[in-house]
Amino acid sequence: MIYQYRCACCSEAVTSTEKVCPKCGSQHIKSPYGLWVFCIFACLFTVISFKVGNIYIQNHNIETPSQVSLLDVLQQSSKTD
Ligand SMILES: [Zn+2]
Repeated sequence: MIYQYRCACCSEAVTSTEKVCPKCGSQHIKSPYGLWVFCIFACLFTVISFKVGNIYIQNHNIETPSQVSLLDVLQQSSKTD
């Protein structure tokens, strides 16, 4: 079963009501939901970074023409001098 609490030390399957591993006595019981929470946060991080990347590219595309025009202006002014 996937939704199984396991010992962090010996990976022994323990029930959710147990606080101590019956095999090695360790109190480090891993929650089965940690992996799912990690996956959900990883998906959210991917989506957010993708959105931020799109916004950055859009802003960068808007700023690029002004930089080119500034260079053009400088080149034209240097030609006139
Ligand atoms: Zn254990």
